Amino acid sequence: MDFTVPEHIVLLRESLRRFIDKEMPRRAAASWDEENHFPREVFDRLVEMGLMGLCVPEEYGGTGQGTFAVMVAIEELARRSMAVAIPYIMSSCYAGMSLAECGSEAQKRTLLPRVAADGLMFAYGWSEADVGADVASVKTRAERDGDEVVVNGAKRFCSGPELCDYIYTLVRSGPAEARRQNLSFILIPPDTPGVRIERMNSLGIKGVPTTDVILTDVRVPAANIMGGEAGWNRGWDMITGAGLDIEKLEVAALALGIADAATEDAWEYSLQRQQFGRPISGFQSIRHKLADMRTQVHAARLVLYHAAWAVDQGGHRGLETSMAKLFVTEAAKAVVLEAQTIAGAYGYVRDFDFERYVRDALLMPIIGGSSAIQRNNIARWSGLQRT
Ligand SMILES: Cc1cc2nc3c(=O)[nH]c(=O)nc-3n(C[C@H](O)[C@H](O)[C@H](O)COP(=O)(O)OP(=O)(O)OC[C@H]3O[C@@H](n4cnc5c(N)ncnc54)[C@H](O)[C@@H]3O)c2cc1C
Repeated sequence: MDFTVPEHIVLLRESLRRFIDKEMPRRAAASWDEENHFPREVFDRLVEMGLMGLCVPEEYGGTGQGTFAVMVAIEELARRSMAVAIPYIMSSCYAGMSLAECGSEAQKRTLLPRVAADGLMFAYGWSEADVGADVASVKTRAERDGDEVVVNGAKRFCSGPELCDYIYTLVRSGPAEARRQNLSFILIPPDTPGVRIERMNSLGIKGVPTTDVILTDVRVPAANIMGGEAGWNRGWDMITGAGLDIEKLEVAALALGIADAATEDAWEYSLQRQQFGRPISGFQSIRHKLADMRTQVHAARLVLYHAAWAVDQGGHRGLETSMAKLFVTEAAKAVVLEAQTIAGAYGYVRDFDFERYVRDALLMPIIGGSSAIQRNNIARWSGLQRT
């Protein structure tokens, strides 16, 4: 067994750390959070560095380095800012990986090079007011009309449609009773007539505003069906394909980055903060918390990297990726709350990053399949009988 991180991943991490120190200083990241601002100029520099193409195959203009490399990139960006880490996912994974896996050859040829070269982004329009974990129950409808598709309905909790090139919209495209055989994905540019975007006010992931998207007689060319003609009514296969494993890991990588940053900040804070004439790092209650946090982060990193490595070996890795999503996001939630406790009153005010880590980490066990859904999957895929 060899746990050595490959040389190209080490170099990727080092160059990202230099980039983040220079282009994403703490104060800037705090202001993006405060102002709910997406720093497109920083994102564009990441595009210039070639970061969006890590998972785009070489024949379509990327470098095809694989899932593990992308997870390390997400982790590093998430250590500093959701306002950059999530748009990175929207380009590299939502657009890049989805197109590579589900796109028609024409879509791959036209859109994948734009992911690598321009940072083309998708926003996910899957959830609806009454549609959460049970995504197959979407009510937004798509009808064929000659060479066009007409979409009517409303999406909820769609993050980043104002930033993206396409809303990757899950629709019901056949009779309701067919349930899973009647779903499709339609690529809808957010400036298409009939698209209305209304912001929601979420606790975290500022910089990537979460919204309602109302779709009224929205017409797009049939070429915008994901997968082309062959993709019509094939949405369920796309949801449950290899992309699902990656989606779980993306959220886990975000959580890992936040937990790591919170641990390091709490560690440093404990050395600086003096009470009763000495640094609080001398108190056993604080030392034990920090030791537990470091251990949790270490374990989270191992389980995430193992799952990412497994995905890169090929095949369906539902069990490993569900375990990683469950463990890392729950560990991150526990770690950020401990970091906030160590910082005491300063953990509760905006002058420090601790409260932001808490707001962002609390989301991670909810999205990308909740912890309950991951537990259901782990029990089922491990063969646990109900009766
Ligand atoms: C800030 C934010 C950003 C988001 N961004 C996006 C986005 O960009 N695109 C998008 O499409 N969606 C997005 N979402 C929605 C997110 O994906 C949903 O929250 C998720 O699908 C779960 O749905 P729900 O929260 O409505 O929970 P529900 O599915 O209603 O579940 C409620 C509770 O019941 C539990 N539960 C549900 N089903 C089961 C079951 N079978 N077994 C056991 N327990 C169960 C859940 O674990 C949860 O605790 C976002 C949400 C938030 C808050």
